[in-house]
Amino acid sequence: MVFSDDNDSDPRHSAMTAPIIPIKSVLSAEEIAAQGAPVPDTLRLPAADLFVARAARLKSLANGHAMAEFLNFCAGLIDAQQQALAALTPAARPDEARIALCRSHDMPLLDAQGGELDASPNGVFGQALATLLKAAQGFAPAPARDIIARLQALPADQVAKEARLILKAESGFDTGYAPFLGAALQVDWTHRALALTKGDVFVREEGSLCPVCGSHPVASVVRIGEGGHGVRYAVCGLCASEWHVTRIKCVPCMNTKGIAYSALEGEGAERFKAVQVETCDECKSALKLVSLEKDHNAEPFADDLATLMLDMLVDDAGYHRAGRNLFYFAP
Ligand SMILES: [Zn+2]
Ligand SMILES: [Zn+2]
Repeated sequence: MVFSDDNDSDPRHSAMTAPIIPIKSVLSAEEIAAQGAPVPDTLRLPAADLFVARAARLKSLANGHAMAEFLNFCAGLIDAQQQALAALTPAARPDEARIALCRSHDMPLLDAQGGELDASPNGVFGQALATLLKAAQGFAPAPARDIIARLQALPADQVAKEARLILKAESGFDTGYAPFLGAALQVDWTHRALALTKGDVFVREEGSLCPVCGSHPVASVVRIGEGGHGVRYAVCGLCASEWHVTRIKCVPCMNTKGIAYSALEGEGAERFKAVQVETCDECKSALKLVSLEKDHNAEPFADDLATLMLDMLVDDAGYHRAGRNLFYFAP
């Protein structure tokens, strides 16, 4: 299970195993441009019902899955995220001077590294976490209920310290806390992002990190653009904002040579047809690509969780996972 850092309890180890197969490339940016496709939006801010769609997708993927217990637990936590988000007073927009400063200096407006994180009972993070832990008591398996009790007893400054380690991808935090603190961090930053408009954010051409909060992507997604062409976005693992990155390009290092794609074959091929892994021989990283062209119901965060077996296979092939999923997190 996810509640321990013991390898033998790694949820991926109980997953179905399936070989990966290379698949043929999608259209390159140049090919898409040559077809006269409209210029895509550079930024997509999160939707207010983000967690509703995510939980529904994960529940459907959990059905009959070898990791059903883990995925259903995650889906319950995502339901609770929507509940926590709905209970919060809408966030205030950052002041205009701050917006102008961040825009002109290409700095993330909702900086995950340096931003405020209030774990006190009246703070946004503290409120979100309390809602999540209370809800999770109702559906979490026994080992997770122990973790919930420990987290509920932890002083606010300690909770904030653990959460900051997760934000910075530093080791030293209790990995059992990760799904709960990760879920509360997502609620906090999505709540802030919902107060923004697209014009508030400077979007660097083809960035590796989220232009809104500076975090790493969880995966990338191919959406169907205005002209019916697939448009690729990297999806923030924290605030769920999406930024445009042309296809056949490594999101972590922006290399365009030797990019390859792999997918599950056999048992998982049809079920997870939306999910491929984009690998880069330049930096040896692997980032999932979730295609709505292939499955309209796909959702990057949920589809990533349900295909952790693909990470193991790519890992065995010598690539390291570049996506950061805050429910399943190791520094
Ligand atoms: Zn972000
Ligand atoms: Zn690369």
